[in-house]
Amino acid sequence: MPVFTHSACLGHDTGAGHAEKPQRLGAVISALRSEFDDLDWREAPRATRGQLLRVHEASLLETVLESRPANQLELDADTVLSPQSAEAAVRAAGAGVAAVDAVMAGEATTSFCAVRPPGHHATSQTAMGFCLFNNVAVAAAHALDRHGLARVAIADFDVHHGNGTQAIFEAEPRVQYLSSHQLPLYPDTGHAHERGVGNILNAPLPPGTGSRGFRAAWGEHLLPALDAFAPQLVLVSAGFDAHWRDPLAQLQLDADDFAWITGELRKRARRHACGRLVSTLEGGYDLQALRECSVAHVRALRDV
Ligand SMILES: [Zn+2]
Repeated sequence: MPVFTHSACLGHDTGAGHAEKPQRLGAVISALRSEFDDLDWREAPRATRGQLLRVHEASLLETVLESRPANQLELDADTVLSPQSAEAAVRAAGAGVAAVDAVMAGEATTSFCAVRPPGHHATSQTAMGFCLFNNVAVAAAHALDRHGLARVAIADFDVHHGNGTQAIFEAEPRVQYLSSHQLPLYPDTGHAHERGVGNILNAPLPPGTGSRGFRAAWGEHLLPALDAFAPQLVLVSAGFDAHWRDPLAQLQLDADDFAWITGELRKRARRHACGRLVSTLEGGYDLQALRECSVAHVRALRDV
């Protein structure tokens, strides 16, 4: 299975004490390298300006790519640009584009993007919530425009609602966005009544929700909607911050739950999309949980 990453993603420096730190990605990569000896590690290319402009305003590209801060520039209280952030951001977005190209070319059915910064909070014009470019949205738009797909699903099980992904596609019926997330929690969007043009489905979960509530939300609401949509490609916003160890939220999942949802999504990809599934790392802020969950996720994605 191709796994896309780039060393520049480790160079995005959010500053001392920031939850979205380079060690997160280091933990994921080292866990995957030590657990699996058959992953096809590939260098993520840079997303092109044209690929980014499919979902982002030119003003955001200018902010992220042209600021060139000497040290750190705070875009908001959570979101920081450092000297290497522009390169990290274009590689993180480029990973998803390359992974879509790989599965559409039939090189593999599934692929994982081990990247940071995460993406799902970034809107068309605003970097926020640790996110600079919306990596999964750039990948989805590439699948529509470059590969001519008519139905692309984005399944987001990060503990936070992907407000940026929803906002980018809420009027785009070719993209379905499905999310489970804790509510109330940052960014306080993702209520059940937010439906877009019928292409958005949110399953907010109260703090303290564990395996049963999570699996019921997907099993009874989100996965049946995914089946009804019959996507030609499944994209996954894979955040592991709904794990019980995570310091930023209060859901109570463990690695088995992430293996379960990955397997369920893969079943739908096989049923509707010739198996095509591309997953990209979003959040997850406890290093031990990140190691366990990324291994469980990738194990369930592998072709063997
Ligand atoms: Zn998150």
